[in-house]
Amino acid sequence: MYFGGIEAGGTKFVCAVSDQQQNIIRKVSIPTTTPEETLTKVYAFFDPYELAAMGIGSFGPIGIDPAKDNYGYILATPKPGWADFDFLGSIKKHYSIPVAWTTDVNAAAYGELKKGAAQGKKSCIYLTVGTGIGGGVVVDQQIFSGIGHPEMGHMHVKRHPDDDFAGSCPYHKDCLEGLAAGPSLEARTGIKGQDLPEDHQIWDLQAYYIGQALMSYVLTLAPEKIVLGGGVMNQEHMLMKIRQSFVDQMAGYMETPAASEYIVRWGLPNESGIIGSLLLAEEASK
Ligand code: ADP
Ligand code: ZN
Repeated sequence: MYFGGIEAGGTKFVCAVSDQQQNIIRKVSIPTTTPEETLTKVYAFFDPYELAAMGIGSFGPIGIDPAKDNYGYILATPKPGWADFDFLGSIKKHYSIPVAWTTDVNAAAYGELKKGAAQGKKSCIYLTVGTGIGGGVVVDQQIFSGIGHPEMGHMHVKRHPDDDFAGSCPYHKDCLEGLAAGPSLEARTGIKGQDLPEDHQIWDLQAYYIGQALMSYVLTLAPEKIVLGGGVMNQEHMLMKIRQSFVDQMAGYMETPAASEYIVRWGLPNESGIIGSLLLAEEASK
């Protein structure tokens, strides 16, 4: 008996099969092209296995409310061919097994809570800082959703007085994602994030926005742990700067664990989402 997990991203799909002890026995990365072409490769990967259940953590926004017609669909994405695509329905048509369905960051938050940096906690948030900024929330060991899934990357932040960058979010311009996701680094400096020197002043600005957003998440949800992941968080020095910015902006108002314990990098680097998806598959099989 096997479980299948899909971490469906806008650039690539990571698919994995695990055994009942959650050991990954095979994993593949498939480039995200058209839905038809991508899913044909997904099926070719999983078909040889007798799966008990699958778990999908998908890029979004996605329809997450089982009571709505758009449940299981990818919603308003600029990714060609994927908007209004019935992703979950297609998978379920091919495999008649239980399929857990959530966002990529929710799956990552779940993976981190069960097996990663937030292990032993009841609640956490997971924030990815990459091409976009997105957050997932686990409360009482369950993924949180309401009228939809949280969209924590698009919260509005207080602009830094020295910052005159218009912001790059197509919807809001200067929301958190517009001001501080990976592409903003290049838009501000002309240099890709991975090539920027550690002593560049842009990092202080970025830490100001992310620290501020973390403060708002903590004031709203009071999670037990904050886990940070995504390409930009490969900058190890950023973690210290973000912690300091969080502490400075919180200004002692709310008592939190020491920032060094509270705000941490992912415990399952690059695998939080796929491990979370496999864990959700196991849950769905019960
Ligand atoms: P995605 O969000 O598409 O899944 P990533 O999490 O890898 O992918 O994020 C990609 C973004 O992160 C790009 O904007 C890239 O320039 C930036 N990035 C990747 N590595 C680094 C790094 N080491 N330092 C700073 N920025 C980085
Ligand atoms: Zn936005």
